[in-house]
Amino acid sequence: MRAVRLMEWKSDPVLVEVDDPVPGPGQVVVRIGGAGACHSDLHLMHEFEPGLLPWGPPFTLGHENAGWVHALGAGVTGFDVGQPVAIYGPWGCGRCPRCLLGMENYCEQVQDAPVPGGGGGLGFDGGMADYMLVPSARHLVPLPDGLDPVHAAPLTDAGLTPYHAVRRSWPKLVPGSTAVVIGVGGLGHLAVQILKATTAARVIAVDTRAEALNLAANEGADLTVEPDEGAVPVIRESTGGRGADVVLDFVGSDSTIALAAAVSRFLGDVTVVGLAGGTFAFTFFSLPYEVSVQTTYWGSRPELIEVLDLAARGLLRPTITTFPLEEALHAYRLMESGSSLGRQVIVPSPGP
Ligand SMILES: [Zn+2]
Ligand SMILES: [Zn+2]
Repeated sequence: MRAVRLMEWKSDPVLVEVDDPVPGPGQVVVRIGGAGACHSDLHLMHEFEPGLLPWGPPFTLGHENAGWVHALGAGVTGFDVGQPVAIYGPWGCGRCPRCLLGMENYCEQVQDAPVPGGGGGLGFDGGMADYMLVPSARHLVPLPDGLDPVHAAPLTDAGLTPYHAVRRSWPKLVPGSTAVVIGVGGLGHLAVQILKATTAARVIAVDTRAEALNLAANEGADLTVEPDEGAVPVIRESTGGRGADVVLDFVGSDSTIALAAAVSRFLGDVTVVGLAGGTFAFTFFSLPYEVSVQTTYWGSRPELIEVLDLAARGLLRPTITTFPLEEALHAYRLMESGSSLGRQVIVPSPGP
């Protein structure tokens, strides 16, 4: 079969022929119908070095995947060949307290996971291929009616990650509250939709690109702002001077974290999701009182079921551009240049 593989750190992935995967006991092979291209893959190609992570290349890219059950290993029941499924991406040990709650993104026994702290497309072969081996059937979530693998694939990360970040702040997103989304890319454009679908908060979207702000406005953002010197007073003024109850930073650079802190409200949340590696000087006076600052990583399996339900009911509509497997590198280049909107989804197979 064909696979888009990262062969070594600090290199571009290559399309190569590899053997078709064969499922062992308890495992499942999925024919991939959609594999999202994620910004974090660019970090894998450009920034990581040998020794930094407990895993490394070569492996097949693609950590947001959906498709159709292709082959079941011995002992797997409850799934039928041809059934459409989404693949839950973060793979933990499956036995620690967090994993038993479906929060494998925060597994506390990672030495017993297939790849410590990784998953399919992150150290283990992912979904930018005709087929993907899923090491346990527990990572499969059946797709609800009305949702196809091409649209489901980005929901497993670009949907699930902002959903988790929004969901944990639900108690603060009451009527009269304001949420700020910084960075309207693959995750951020879905964050706007998730806020509108699941909360009564006013939504302010921030991005440097006019097209991204248009996309946010079309998806229901109440106000769009460019992150220049005027951004802080505009956001403060639009909230009656109080600031935003929840700020979600999908960039995570020095300047975006500083902006997030500057527009936050007493008792608010500043949640940094983006991996740009920015720093923030924390002092007693650098944030309004009782603002909580946190990072988040991905989401839980129950939350993925909720995200898929939102999408099946038309409340979450990822903006996607599709590419055949041979054009995966082109899709990454477009993402890198900032010239594409929403999510780029690689489609190895158009049907089961
Ligand atoms: Zn990702
Ligand atoms: Zn675990």
